[in-house]
Amino acid sequence: MDNYPLSQRARSLSASPTFAMLQKTTELKAQGIDIISLSVGEPDFNTPQNIKDAAKRAVDQNYSKYSPVPGYMELRKAVCKKLLRENNLQYEPQQIIVTNGGKQAVCQTIMALVDKGEEVLIPTPYWVSYPEMVKLAEGTPVFIETTIDQDFKITPQQLEQAITKQTKAIILCSPSNPTGSVYSHDELQALAEVLMRHPQVFILSDEIYEHINYVGRHESLSQFEALRDRVIILNGVSKGYAMTGWRIGWLAAPAWLAKAVNTIQGQLTSGPCSVAQKAAEWAYTDDDQSSVEQMRQAFERRRDLVCRLVADIPGLRANRPEGAFYIFPECKSYFGKTTADGRKIENADQLAMYLLEVAHVATVAGTGFGAPDYIRMSYANSEENITEGFRRIKQALDELH
Ligand code: PMP
Ligand code: GLU
Repeated sequence: MDNYPLSQRARSLSASPTFAMLQKTTELKAQGIDIISLSVGEPDFNTPQNIKDAAKRAVDQNYSKYSPVPGYMELRKAVCKKLLRENNLQYEPQQIIVTNGGKQAVCQTIMALVDKGEEVLIPTPYWVSYPEMVKLAEGTPVFIETTIDQDFKITPQQLEQAITKQTKAIILCSPSNPTGSVYSHDELQALAEVLMRHPQVFILSDEIYEHINYVGRHESLSQFEALRDRVIILNGVSKGYAMTGWRIGWLAAPAWLAKAVNTIQGQLTSGPCSVAQKAAEWAYTDDDQSSVEQMRQAFERRRDLVCRLVADIPGLRANRPEGAFYIFPECKSYFGKTTADGRKIENADQLAMYLLEVAHVATVAGTGFGAPDYIRMSYANSEENITEGFRRIKQALDELH
């Protein structure tokens, strides 16, 4: 790398470790190795049939031209209706920008808000891309550390202490990737009270796992009226509707900010894929939302299963995830141990590599999530694969001494 005339920006960016593991898994599978993937976070379900049918109709109706940069008006209205129906929030279409996946919604919001040197608070463990996106904007990520013993949730005191004059924003993800933690209404209220005292701080509320929640109603900082003019909701159809490959996300923001994001998007990518937008519109507006609930129930059963399987491995210690489809056990008790062929496991990256090579199970080390003592397992996989995956993991971990 060092020999090429790359920008500082390109040099300083780390590759996404979740996609790196996906790539490695794909390569090993292509070699005929039977890998069980508990790595990348995407529903194993196919996109529901009613949504696929809508996409086919859109193709036949010639939705093949550029869409408006912020997305089709019908989809932006559908998002507003969804926000009213499910979240009791009133938004106007000009506040909604449809993006190429939730990832672009997060990144463009940061690009539109953050200037060089401004601080963005990121609770750890975090989703791998947040700090990298802040760095792309030349902002400064400031981490608020949490541990398993606080269920990976920041306290109001931690938040208060982390805010400085340079703080521009906080990124809060609930339900969380990678921990599965979900902030309750009271916990959010306590954080909201701190944020009300600091009107310069914007709140990026990543709600992409909204529909995958095992504790009931989805709660968000956007419900506190006093914060509404500085909350940006980041969401999309990838997870809840099993549509990761369609690349449709969106943000709901104050109109002035949505306008700036629109300008960025107009120079960067233009409006997202026309057919995928029609599919997403159908996803939100079809009366039949039963597939979302069916998938949620399947994830909940798998959550219960995975908790039992992890509890059966003495060297792992996990919280009970309340949403999303990840479990994030502490695995440091294995550091310093030796493999059957004499290699020492020093850290979570080496442990994940050992599990891949010996157990043929793909996981993701906590390092990329800012939590090097942990390892992430996605349970967006069949109960059969999860059971077999953990049987292999247990066996491989038992062999360490
Ligand atoms: N936020 C979080 C927390 C995620 O886990 C993901 C998954 N990649 C995204 C945003 C982006 O989702 P998308 O696949 O729609 O870009
Ligand atoms: N969000 C998923 C994950 O964390 C998909 C990969 C990515 O976008 O990083 O595994």
